[in-house]
Amino acid sequence: MKNSPPSGAKVSALLSRRDFLRSAATGAILATGAPLLLVSSGCSPGSATRAAAPKKLPDLSELFQAAARSLENDPANRLSGTELRFYDAPVFAVAAADDPLFRKLKEKDVVGPVHFMPQDWVPARTVISYFLPFSEPVCKANRGPESAPELWFQAHQQGAHAAGNVRKFLIERFHEQNIGTFFPVHDKRYNNGGLLPTWSQRHVAYIAGLGTFSVSTNLITARGCAGLLDSLLVEVAYPATKRPYAGLRDYCAHCLTCVGRCPVGALAEKGKNVMACARHIFTTKPNAETCCGKCLAAVPCERGIPAGAKINAPAAPAPVSAAPPVRSA
Ligand code: SF4
Ligand code: SF4
Repeated sequence: MKNSPPSGAKVSALLSRRDFLRSAATGAILATGAPLLLVSSGCSPGSATRAAAPKKLPDLSELFQAAARSLENDPANRLSGTELRFYDAPVFAVAAADDPLFRKLKEKDVVGPVHFMPQDWVPARTVISYFLPFSEPVCKANRGPESAPELWFQAHQQGAHAAGNVRKFLIERFHEQNIGTFFPVHDKRYNNGGLLPTWSQRHVAYIAGLGTFSVSTNLITARGCAGLLDSLLVEVAYPATKRPYAGLRDYCAHCLTCVGRCPVGALAEKGKNVMACARHIFTTKPNAETCCGKCLAAVPCERGIPAGAKINAPAAPAPVSAAPPVRSA
């Protein structure tokens, strides 16, 4: 089957390395009108546009641990005026940008032709996927029946700044070594207004070895499913994480607790009624997209791989993980 990339992708696929670095350093606007990055790097745009050779490849394990420390100490990662953290230590995984599974995402029964290949954004060699797990108090806040509890809501609103700082941290560490990076979430084509994404963070995470799908269609990682998935493209090659699973739902226990948690009956063993879920989250006050998540809390996969999953004890944590896997009781 011939896949047709989105029109804007054809333009960005032609980006040279020079464009990659310049856009990453300055948040420049492409010919497509798409802002590539919202934050500037620590290096000056002038030096970046020289497209000098990378100085030294950052060690990913060290980089991820440094990112985790940065998040832990970030005041933006705390509820105003308290010591309560929104996010715990992240987990990371790495995919080769030419992993054949990325092409599968364009198939109609996976995501669809609208999905971008990594190279549709920029000439990347590596895709880094990561998960910021919500802390115990944040998860606890959404375990009851209340719609959009305050702390759950604030974790999405205020916590977005902490997530942005993680992006900034990673961008800066790579750019210090003249290595281009790109966050699809910063590109206007990321939000295409449709139900099918141009870049599915969950599918990308699955490919990278970060976790598997589930009955609730959420991605279950070694740190559970309640949290934020993100990913960035990097212009240099790194070894990929070995996927510790083979099946699409290996980390799901098929306990169906999530089905009973959904307030609008959008979940069933066979899958999710996407329209019913979307209708609910887009009409719930005070802010649609962040209000529900009942299928993420008070479920055995909330903060780890549940007991009873096909694979509930990965042989080893992902080699570049900043934190060891946690198993739920
Ligand atoms: S609640 Fe149970 S069935 Fe639902 S996603 Fe989690 S482990 Fe799977
Ligand atoms: S986000 Fe809410 S409405 Fe959507 S599937 Fe989960 S529980 Fe149901």
